[in-house]
Amino acid sequence: MAGIDVKDGATYCCMEGPRYETRAEVKMLRMLGGDIAGHTSFPEQVLAREAEICYASIGIVSSMAAGIEEGHVNAGVVEDTMEKMFDDVQQILMNAIELTDVDEDCWCKHSLEGTVHQK
Ligand SMILES: [Zn+2]
Repeated sequence: MAGIDVKDGATYCCMEGPRYETRAEVKMLRMLGGDIAGHTSFPEQVLAREAEICYASIGIVSSMAAGIEEGHVNAGVVEDTMEKMFDDVQQILMNAIELTDVDEDCWCKHSLEGTVHQK
């Protein structure tokens, strides 16, 4: 995407907020295969899957977390990053809306096939 550093396929770990993770928690999440830790996006993605609704999320890396970043993670750094990224996120969302084909028969609409909750 134009001038935006985008990574696809990271493993998101949702933690209990609003506090930041401790160094030990960050280490544990990395050992479990996590790439990004945050405080949102759950349970809505699970509910979308169960309702066979297409779902995608955008994660903005606002800090490198305890034990990785020098110094302390604080709300000011997160707020500054979010403010800087606001226009980019708006552009990503506008592009996604334009490129989305609501009539496409994608995997999301069949995610319960073969399960006990099958419609
Ligand atoms: Zn889909």
